[in-house]
Amino acid sequence: MTTPIESVLSIGTNIGDRLTNLQRAVQMLNENDQIELTSLSSVYETEPVGGVEQQSFYNITAVIQTTLSAQELLDYLHEIEQALHRKRIVHWGPRTIDLDIIYYDRQHIQTATLTVPHPEMANRRFVLAPTLEALASDDEHYDEVAHLLQVTPDRNWIKKKFSNEVLMWTK
Ligand code: ADP
Ligand code: MG
Repeated sequence: MTTPIESVLSIGTNIGDRLTNLQRAVQMLNENDQIELTSLSSVYETEPVGGVEQQSFYNITAVIQTTLSAQELLDYLHEIEQALHRKRIVHWGPRTIDLDIIYYDRQHIQTATLTVPHPEMANRRFVLAPTLEALASDDEHYDEVAHLLQVTPDRNWIKKKFSNEVLMWTK
């Protein structure tokens, strides 16, 4: 048996029924028997980035325990994106769902397909705020995320929209 590893995932959507997209992504994480959800943030509504005319985003952070390797986890996140028919027509444009790995244990990973910790997290309030909420205060990443949230240059608006109960997840 492999020991499960903690990983932190950021999930965002701004196409179609955004709440349903988040619910289905959470459901698919739950369905994988090598993934155990341990915490979910509230649902945050956040300003669309990139200046392209589009709906606002809904963002959440999921904390999981997993026996998947980082690459296997990324492959599964892509399966979820495919299952939800993510469309990639306009770069920075609307997307059904985007799932990113923010942390994978304390590991620093740099491959052709994967950079962890996520290189953009410090510039994204929509990653930092839900992540701080989802992490336990004694989590090894908590202090770093709290600090990054204080110093982030990101001035885009973000507001708590729904409690995590709307994700229909029970521990
Ligand atoms: P973005 O998430 O930056 O908006 P995409 O979701 O289209 O863009 O991701 C493009 C590629 O980024 C993915 O195919 C994946 O290989 C790569 N990638 C690198 N690091 C990560 C990470 N930490 N989490 C998710 N994808 C990553
Ligand atoms: Mg992505």
